Amino acid sequence: MKPDELEAMVAARGAVRRGHFALSSGLHSDVYVQKFRVLEQPQDARRLGAAVAALFDSGFDVVASPAVGALLLGFTTALAANVRFIFAERVDGVMSFRRGFRLEPHERVLVVEDVVTTGGSAAEVVALLRLAGARIEGVGALIDRSGGPRAELGLGAPFRALLRLQADAWPPEVCPLCASGEPLEDPGSSRPSGKSLD
Ligand code: ZN
Repeated sequence: MKPDELEAMVAARGAVRRGHFALSSGLHSDVYVQKFRVLEQPQDARRLGAAVAALFDSGFDVVASPAVGALLLGFTTALAANVRFIFAERVDGVMSFRRGFRLEPHERVLVVEDVVTTGGSAAEVVALLRLAGARIEGVGALIDRSGGPRAELGLGAPFRALLRLQADAWPPEVCPLCASGEPLEDPGSSRPSGKSLD
């Protein structure tokens, strides 16, 4: 899938919103990507998963994603590569593998994330996998909205995304939108107070 094709899909679904948003990374931003709108058609989710798998030449044995946001894309990436899919989830704020998920030593793992802002959740999954003795082949994502050079994400593994999106993000204390009194929206959060999916 070409970037302009994905861009058109994102636009057609109204998946990119402008305003003042609290992101799950804790940063504030003027742009919010409602990625589930891009993935709500199963056929599209399948095509996007195939495109992510192709970014890494399907050179992996397992796909691992952080819950909840990346579950659909991680699953369809694994489907395209015909490998198994596991996910990590937060338990008392700490990313963990539960539900009996196991990794064999030296299994090659592709981490799949949905939208990367700081790379924080992906980095946590990478660290967790390394502890389990896995080999990280890379981190794949639907959208890279980090804005900076990819090396700065500190993932310690190749990072590739289907689409790069220009968006500003700030820690709340220096957010210019907070400073100008713009109402803050929390469109989808994994924080305990959040009610919607992220
Ligand atoms: Zn703000």
